[in-house]
Amino acid sequence: MQVIKVEIDTAAPLDPEASILIIYTGGTIGMVFDEEKKHLVPFNFSQILEKVPELAQFKYLLTVVSVEPVIDSSNVTIENWILLAKLIKENYNNYDGFVILHGTDTMAYSASAMSFLLENLCKPVIFTGAQVPIGRVRTDARENLITALQIAATKIDGHSLVPEVCIYFHNLLLRGNRGKKVESSHFNAFKSENYPLLAKAGVVIDYYWSSILPHPTEPLKVHSHMDDRVAILKLFPGITAQVVASILRTPGLRGVVMETFGAGNAPIFSWLLDLLREAMDRGIFILNVSQCDEGRVEQGRYETSKHLFNMGIIGGVDITTEAAISKMMFVLGLNKDQVNTKRLLESNLRGEISI
Ligand code: ASP
Repeated sequence: MQVIKVEIDTAAPLDPEASILIIYTGGTIGMVFDEEKKHLVPFNFSQILEKVPELAQFKYLLTVVSVEPVIDSSNVTIENWILLAKLIKENYNNYDGFVILHGTDTMAYSASAMSFLLENLCKPVIFTGAQVPIGRVRTDARENLITALQIAATKIDGHSLVPEVCIYFHNLLLRGNRGKKVESSHFNAFKSENYPLLAKAGVVIDYYWSSILPHPTEPLKVHSHMDDRVAILKLFPGITAQVVASILRTPGLRGVVMETFGAGNAPIFSWLLDLLREAMDRGIFILNVSQCDEGRVEQGRYETSKHLFNMGIIGGVDITTEAAISKMMFVLGLNKDQVNTKRLLESNLRGEISI
């Protein structure tokens, strides 16, 4: 993947109100219908001003960098996340904020991953995208992009208002690692799970101050490792030992996010408990995450979760699966010892859990 840079000609005066770096990665927002192939394919984002002429009215310095090739976000990889983090690191001091244009399908995973990779962030990194491509009459891309830029540019007493990785979509600003894609047909594609909104855009943008992370006191630290030796094990009534074993016995596996029922409950079948114990004995970390959209994992509340607690499975509290798997990749990528890895997985690192 390489990066192409385009400056946008806006109404920015000599002393612009803000400078924003837009990072275009692909997704529906920049797709066009390919008449030959008969499906949507990504287009060249240097044509952005033709599609959103309103951008020229901003008194911001706007720069777009486009990754090459742009991707449908279903194809996103750990390498792409590391590249995005590196781009932010390299440009951090030159911009007041960052807007990442990204497909909606995996936006919640990418926003979660970036929240972990960018430690002590004190500038906004806002993911946005669209359900309808930017060239279509009924596109939602224009509003999403314009408001995301405004949020990224907003400061109070010289400090960014939202020093976090966020998702802005269809009037809502959410913490990135609390986001979940919940809708593929309508415009309200994202929901914040177990955490209040950071802002809501109407006639004015209402910010919910108490929900926004405080400014860090330490300087930005950008991480560049994530471990892909992880898996998600989703339990369901009728799941067989063969299926569970095939996941837990994956050669080299280091971490598993286990999606359980309700408040973190799993069947108490001895074959399942034996397989989980065997995996843990091999040093695999297991993070218990609920399949429910709201509520929290409370291991020990029911008999069906007590065994998990007793064997040392980590309770994921109210984390989303998207944040849990990227947290697992991030924490394992730090290569800490067993005790510190478990401690980090249990801790609230970037506002992803409420403890
Ligand atoms: N498949 C697209 C993507 O995630 C969908 C979208 O952008 O909304 O890249």
